[in-house]
Amino acid sequence: MPFHTTMVPYNIVPVSTPDTAPIWEAAKQGKLVVQKCDACGYFNWPPAIWCNGCKDPDTTKSFVEVSGKGSLYCWYICHDTSITGFEEKVPYAVILTELDEQPGLILMSNILNFEYGVLGEGLDNGMRLKVCFDDDPGSGLPVIQFEPDA
Ligand SMILES: [Zn+2]
Repeated sequence: MPFHTTMVPYNIVPVSTPDTAPIWEAAKQGKLVVQKCDACGYFNWPPAIWCNGCKDPDTTKSFVEVSGKGSLYCWYICHDTSITGFEEKVPYAVILTELDEQPGLILMSNILNFEYGVLGEGLDNGMRLKVCFDDDPGSGLPVIQFEPDA
């Protein structure tokens, strides 16, 4: 039964860029921030140049802390051992979590600290999740992950 407390070591390490630096800096403090349009209030994930809500390219945007809570939107179980760096992790779940702040505000991650079946038994869409951070010594950046919100 798959149960992962970490997905380290990550072979493909996160890279902080000017567009994503606020996300990584917040993650180091155990906080999840999402880019929000100052004009229409829409949350953009990943950060967008043109707001996905109002489609206005000229709006300013800010990174704001969100609850980190949401629901399992969908998932699949990866059995593919050809993905370098994750050979020892298979099978593992890749999940999409829809945050409570906005319908369609969806983040991709793995699920940690939860035991599920090799075919995903126990993973139920709608199950409550909360953000957690998987410290990656390779990059020094905490990878955004989700775990059950008990
Ligand atoms: Zn907008």
